[in-house]
Amino acid sequence: MDAKPALKSTDRVTPVPGSSAVAGRVIWAPAKSLWFSAMAFAGGIGVILYPSWQAAGVTLVLMLLTLCLGHSVGMHRLLIHRSFAAPRWLEYTLVYLGTLVGMAGPVGMFRIHEIRDWQQQQPDCHSFAKHDVGFWCDALWQMHCEQVLDHPPKLHIEAHVTEDPFYQWLEATWRWQQLPLAIALYAMGGVGFVLWGIGLRIAVSLAGHWVTVHFAHTRGDRPFVDDGIAVDGRNLPALGLVTFGEAFHNNHHAFPRSARMGHTARQLDPGWWVIRGLSWIGLAWNIQTPDGLETPNLQEVLQ
Ligand SMILES: [Zn+2]
Ligand SMILES: [Zn+2]
Repeated sequence: MDAKPALKSTDRVTPVPGSSAVAGRVIWAPAKSLWFSAMAFAGGIGVILYPSWQAAGVTLVLMLLTLCLGHSVGMHRLLIHRSFAAPRWLEYTLVYLGTLVGMAGPVGMFRIHEIRDWQQQQPDCHSFAKHDVGFWCDALWQMHCEQVLDHPPKLHIEAHVTEDPFYQWLEATWRWQQLPLAIALYAMGGVGFVLWGIGLRIAVSLAGHWVTVHFAHTRGDRPFVDDGIAVDGRNLPALGLVTFGEAFHNNHHAFPRSARMGHTARQLDPGWWVIRGLSWIGLAWNIQTPDGLETPNLQEVLQ
């Protein structure tokens, strides 16, 4: 029998004897599926029965706040990658905004991100993390199902997250956090604002996140090539602005700790602009950029 190549560890994920990044199944995840379906349904009703430019404007502003400041800058670049440092109150505010995206609480976001990242860095992994099953099957899997690995690795999340009372509370109540916002929207513009600002916003955010993740692992440029792994990230310049820089996913695979995802002025990266803005007013420091980080073929790419 051929010896299997040893599985790698990442900063937070360690394989245990028998761990496999491939063996597993995809099962329907009722809570995730019903949540997304209910939001899409509510959003559809909002668009049909309560069409309004004001509601559309409020929804757009909420998407900017929750996806850019919350998800990309707060959850992803600050909480998960520690790509910069910020005052605790600001970290809490940004992570709270990220929770309002409606995808998961802070610990749930670690789980989604870290296990997928670990699987992608192995010699091979399950199609759930490779996104190679075609557009519609991947849509069904990512928005209605979950992956259950037969022999999962061990995930370690730092105690300053798992034992933080604010993050514990946010994790336990993440879906309920839509309620105060829903009440505020109702007070501002009635039922229509709630259907747009909660239902439509969450459905579009979750679908948009999936589309980005799907294409960021299946098509696009790979300036930083890593051939020894199951699946590499891709850069999607056309989606830079609308994904707040997250679409430069090949850059992110090569420099996961970098606060900057778009490496040139033409790689539009609004999340990076926010972090630079925060640093100008003294609210962000220890900012990591590709120049200060190591990658195997950096010199070739920069030539
Ligand atoms: Zn990736
Ligand atoms: Zn990441």
